Amino acid sequence: MIHENLSINNKGELCVAGLSTVDLASKYGTPLYIMDENKIRDNMRLYNEGMKEVLGDDFLVIYASKACSFVRMAQIAKEEGIGLDSVSIGEVYTAKAAGFDMSKIFFHGNFKTDEDIEAAIEEGVGYFVADCMEEIETIQYFAEKKGVKQKILVRLTPGINPDTFEAVNTGKIDSKFGFSMIGDNAEKTLLKVLSMPNIQLEGFHFHLGSQMFDSEPLVDGAKIILEFMVEMNKKHGYEAKILDIGGGCAVRYTEDDEKIDKKKWIMHAVTGVKKECERLGIKVPFIITEPGRSLVADAGTTVYKVGCVKVIEGYKTYVAIDGGMSDNPRYALYKAPYTVMSANNADKEATVKCSVVGRLCESGDIIQEDVYLPECKRGDMVAVLSTGAYNFSMSSNYNRVHRPAVVMIKDGQDYVAVKRQTTEELLSGDVR
Ligand SMILES: *Cc1c(COP(=O)(O)O)cnc(C)c1O
Repeated sequence: MIHENLSINNKGELCVAGLSTVDLASKYGTPLYIMDENKIRDNMRLYNEGMKEVLGDDFLVIYASKACSFVRMAQIAKEEGIGLDSVSIGEVYTAKAAGFDMSKIFFHGNFKTDEDIEAAIEEGVGYFVADCMEEIETIQYFAEKKGVKQKILVRLTPGINPDTFEAVNTGKIDSKFGFSMIGDNAEKTLLKVLSMPNIQLEGFHFHLGSQMFDSEPLVDGAKIILEFMVEMNKKHGYEAKILDIGGGCAVRYTEDDEKIDKKKWIMHAVTGVKKECERLGIKVPFIITEPGRSLVADAGTTVYKVGCVKVIEGYKTYVAIDGGMSDNPRYALYKAPYTVMSANNADKEATVKCSVVGRLCESGDIIQEDVYLPECKRGDMVAVLSTGAYNFSMSSNYNRVHRPAVVMIKDGQDYVAVKRQTTEELLSGDVR
């Protein structure tokens, strides 16, 4: 199996963390997001251990909560000593509801609204990761109004093009994210920020992109930023305390993806950063990394019920399931690969080549094309693996379908982490 927490029981049912996905589906209904809490905690610990081995205590792992955000998830991160990367005030409030330490929240995003900025300062969010000058000016305005000094990091784009697909590539020069480092743009930015009385510039951030199997590009990116830091120190006496090297560790979506040792991946990156600091003769800054998918993707499995099987003679076979782009839009968005298998006949040979499609009224509502399933019929169950990241968090009510529940498994016990949306909730904002 693609992940070690998956197995098949003697009834031929796919199991997550030892529990039958078929039993869980009959208990909670479908579609159902199943998440293995122990796996999430293991992933978080791998990062914390790897960082600690190289850096001692001068680091923080922050979870890019856009990957999957709900209160229970924030509680788990909190319990594991992980900080949070939030990209909207909604994610900040989710963390707050989990009793999160606000000083460990990093507010990201390329456009933070005035309302979000004011509210985040009000809530005492630790850091803004500033993405443009208009944002920093707005932070200055609201920080002054409140009479506080707001810590920020400045996001820079070091111009590295990691080997990943276009839609998730953010660190190259032509990007909607961050301040470009072309010419003296970064230096000008720095000087302007240092002149703002209610802004405390703590350091720099970069994020290259996602689904990187190799962490070497992070070292390349860090090198560019560290050299910039040395130059700014020499020229202007500015010493950055923090370097945030972003996230992006790859996840195994299919058997074709190589196995990834997350601890090695992050240790390779931060060892490289440490060596660069030695070469430049500077103290290693406080290092932050922001994994998203690699903390949660392999902890998640989605289970669906099959509604119909259509054989278009001479073309293809469609297997329609009771969810779709409303709970996993990633194939529709950018043809993201996933492993699809039978949940109730997981031991049977997968002989039918098919397209697994959703129930939404869009031809592009596809979960995966050209996959193999055993012969199936209405009522059978299909599982999509590695759905812990960017599935629940990207879900929608398109076609007014109800958002599925999230069930967690902890130490062999299942519990509801997010309830299935009720019709009342679905209509709750509608004025009659
Ligand atoms: C999305 C994102 C991450 C996490 O990316 P993953 O591929 O999920 O690890 C980290 N930092 C920033 C700024 C991001 O936008």
